[in-house]
Amino acid sequence: MLPVLYTPLHRQHEPSFFFVAGNFTPAQERIDRAEFLRDAAVAAGCELVTAVEHGLAPVADVHTPDYICFLEDGHKRWSDIPGASAEIVPNVFAVHGLHHGYPERVVGQAGYHMQDLASPIGPGTYAAALASANLAVDAAVRVIAGAPAAYAICRPPGHHAYRERGGGVCYLNNAAIAAQTLRRHGRRVAVIDIDVHHGNGTQGIFYERDDVYFVSIHRDPLNYHPYFCGYAQERGSGAGLGYNLNLPLPADTGDDAYLVALEHACGRLHSFQPDVLVISLGLDAHENDPFKGLRVTTEGFRRIGERLGRLGFPCVMVQEGGYDCDHIGTNLVHFLDGLTSKLKP
Ligand code: ZN
Repeated sequence: MLPVLYTPLHRQHEPSFFFVAGNFTPAQERIDRAEFLRDAAVAAGCELVTAVEHGLAPVADVHTPDYICFLEDGHKRWSDIPGASAEIVPNVFAVHGLHHGYPERVVGQAGYHMQDLASPIGPGTYAAALASANLAVDAAVRVIAGAPAAYAICRPPGHHAYRERGGGVCYLNNAAIAAQTLRRHGRRVAVIDIDVHHGNGTQGIFYERDDVYFVSIHRDPLNYHPYFCGYAQERGSGAGLGYNLNLPLPADTGDDAYLVALEHACGRLHSFQPDVLVISLGLDAHENDPFKGLRVTTEGFRRIGERLGRLGFPCVMVQEGGYDCDHIGTNLVHFLDGLTSKLKP
């Protein structure tokens, strides 16, 4: 039975808004996303398991001390500002590559560490993000111990978070933390990101490394978030050149064209021969998702799962996006069913 990792601690993170087109709109990254995913997985016969606590070390192996300290105590310092909002929202931004110092004040640090206005930090955000990362670590540890696959219901998601920057409703990069945990245990690792948005944070973390192969299939960033990364010409740099593969797809791409791109990705993953495959499992490429990026169907998610399962690598699955609560549970179950039907027990 597939182990599914869930924690109620995610409920401490309750963003009050999502900033879009100049407006504060209701948050898409809602608490009940995780509950829908959990309930669907359990109803499908998966085994709900409790994660062992793995501490801060796996997180500190990916993220910088300054960033972790900011996430940990930033909200308290923010709250000390007279008239401050209930959540941290930056009003300045560091232009990376053009900055020359690290500010002391939390307002400056917020601009240094956050990429956008879409990722508010509330009083429970850090605790929830840590608990979310811990699930990803635990899923990795279970696969190291011999499980053919494990699925972590990570909320908040993580793939837009860089080593020292959060954004895109992500704070700690759960997939990268899982991958780095696997590396610490000597496993050869590849990450495939099937979220509709490019996994820019994960790419950034491993961009100069040749020991973690990263591939992302996503809506073309020319007209879509995250806009500045995810182009086909980004292939890695230094030792990492050739270990990064982006497969941007045009708007409204459906199942068949998606599967062609996935086939290409699988060929490269097969050549790399990882010991473990980390899957950044976004479900927002679905045709009904509010972000309207691609047009993958529910049956399409089963086919994607089957193809990845046929690679035969043990899999650590880490939840990313997916915002249509009417369908994310069904889409998850179709993906997991496809994947586990092809994996060796
Ligand atoms: Zn997404």
